[in-house]
Amino acid sequence: MIRGVVAVVFGALQVLVAAPVAPSAPAPSNPGDVFEFPLPTWTPHCLGFGSKWTYCNGTALRACASGEVWLHTGADVIATVGQPVAAAGDGVIVGYLIDQTFRGGVLIRHQTSSGAVITQYWHVWLKSGYGTGSRVKRGEVFADVADMGTLTHLHFAVFNADYEPHAWNGALPPSACSGFPAFPYKFIDATAFIEAHLPVAPLPRGTRI
Ligand SMILES: [Zn+2]
Repeated sequence: MIRGVVAVVFGALQVLVAAPVAPSAPAPSNPGDVFEFPLPTWTPHCLGFGSKWTYCNGTALRACASGEVWLHTGADVIATVGQPVAAAGDGVIVGYLIDQTFRGGVLIRHQTSSGAVITQYWHVWLKSGYGTGSRVKRGEVFADVADMGTLTHLHFAVFNADYEPHAWNGALPPSACSGFPAFPYKFIDATAFIEAHLPVAPLPRGTRI
């Protein structure tokens, strides 16, 4: 066992010495498999993937009759009013909703080599000239962060499937209730997804704390 550990360590050192500036992953051959963060900095706001769906002060937004608080399906990221929001990848806008409480929501459908993926952006306004059916390229600014006062932030989620009405959900119950499927359903950790699909070079933009 000890010999095995030594061999692994030695192997890692060999890699470091042989290729100190080598990229960490091979370049994806399909541009549809490359994604980036929608904002240049990626600093978490109050809620992350799987957090209880509450305001920053802990007030629950929605709960099942059983009292279970819904769970947040996206990543909330610190943003400023009017800040440009970029498409996470090449795709097509497949929906735009306006909600009195949550402002605008946008869904973009991406065709990756492992199937369709939907990226979801809440608390934004579409820029003029964009609407359902618009094609966007990765990094293209298509929306601005909406003014939600002290609650202003970007909610970003990744729905790992093709479009269906639940792709709009910002949170889901911990176990099925009120006709909604249980968290996480087809949502996956948005920050981890982007990190796993960043372009190889230049180095990943943004920061994560
Ligand atoms: Zn959110």
